[in-house]
Amino acid sequence: MARIIKKFGGTSVGDVDRIQNVARLIKEDHDKGNQIVVVVSARSGVTNDLINRAKAINRNPADREMDMLLVAGEQETIALTAMALQALGVDAVSLTGAMAGIKTDPYHTRARIVSMDCRTLIEHLDSNRVVIVAGFQGAGEQGQITTLGRGGSDLSAIALAKGVDADLCQIYTDVEGVYTADPRIVPKARKLPEISYEEMLELASLGTKVMQARSVEFSNKFNVPFEVRSSFKNKPGTIVKEEVSSMEDVVVRGVALDKNQAKVMVANIPDKPGTAARVFRSLSEANVVVDMIVQNIGRNGVANLTFTVPRDDTHRASQAVEEVLQELGGGKVTLVGDIAKLSVVGVGMRTHSGVASQLFSALSDAEVNIQLISTSEIKISVVINENESDHAIRAVHSAFGLDVE
Ligand code: ADP
Ligand code: ASP
Ligand code: MG
Repeated sequence: MARIIKKFGGTSVGDVDRIQNVARLIKEDHDKGNQIVVVVSARSGVTNDLINRAKAINRNPADREMDMLLVAGEQETIALTAMALQALGVDAVSLTGAMAGIKTDPYHTRARIVSMDCRTLIEHLDSNRVVIVAGFQGAGEQGQITTLGRGGSDLSAIALAKGVDADLCQIYTDVEGVYTADPRIVPKARKLPEISYEEMLELASLGTKVMQARSVEFSNKFNVPFEVRSSFKNKPGTIVKEEVSSMEDVVVRGVALDKNQAKVMVANIPDKPGTAARVFRSLSEANVVVDMIVQNIGRNGVANLTFTVPRDDTHRASQAVEEVLQELGGGKVTLVGDIAKLSVVGVGMRTHSGVASQLFSALSDAEVNIQLISTSEIKISVVINENESDHAIRAVHSAFGLDVE
């Protein structure tokens, strides 16, 4: 007997047929004598629809009410999945995040898990019941409903795997595993049999949607290996686990593309100590997360500063900078929305050189202009034009020998 966590994303529970398909898949493993905890997302599109409805009613809805609204998506699918299992004669019970013992801090829409109390859940398992838990949600200390950030059902699954000491954690989705690049953009992308936590985290943070970055961070911190696999085809997927030394033989494991970024350019600011500190203090007070930063060499007492921010935060970022410019008495802000960040990732970069030049040559051969560059130990990122980015990622993918034959 094994204790297994199975998480199904939005497409996998997208309609009645798919929920029944999921129920059959769960029943198969339960009939083998395994204990099963299922985590489900909202049907695909539901969370976005709810967000749009909220914004149609109030342009700036309160985070508390957003959480109250968004949990409705998962509430529907837990009940339907439990009903589908019961229709197959399987004893099943649905639980909200709070009932499953997921306790979070009080920060609505982006809460972090602070503790897990899985006693009730384990009692159900020991009574041979399949437990269906609502992904993406938890409860604060006062019982207030919180959510774990977009894509947060991945985190619910991994946290529960740790909480019930599961033998296996399976993330079922609409692709067969983690690929060398998004297979919808790069048709020649290859499915990876395995990948390290660190590489997966870097890819997820750089825009690879298949796993929520915070969930990978959690799995790395608590060493919870997991498998990403298809809910439609019964095939082995990708194992995400601790790094082993052979992983360093591969220089570039994957390529990520983030089209959700914008570039902010601040021209003609005073070239003197303290200017950058004031600009970035103001951005941090406005809760804007800044990523790549470049400042050119000052001339005639003024300098230019360029940085990237999440596209949704563009407005807040420019407001924050404008405030500082007024105090400084000069400077001009320009926003560029149509950019994309392309990154190559691999733990092998620690021991191999020449990756940057290979990347720049590939982009040059593809006639793609580079606007910004940043590097860290296991990744190199560039900012390019959004409308060239699909072409660019395919070219880079080929240049690093990642294409399937
Ligand atoms: P779920 O609803 O199951 O959580 P998501 O839509 O969040 O699924 O994530 C799966 C999607 O991630 C895939 O449909 C795929 O287009 C996208 N994706 C982006 N990069 C990759 C990659 N490197 N490997 C696999 N899928 C990727
Ligand atoms: N339904 C939530 C979202 O769309 C959580 C998830 O699907 O993981 O972000
Ligand atoms: Mg997802």
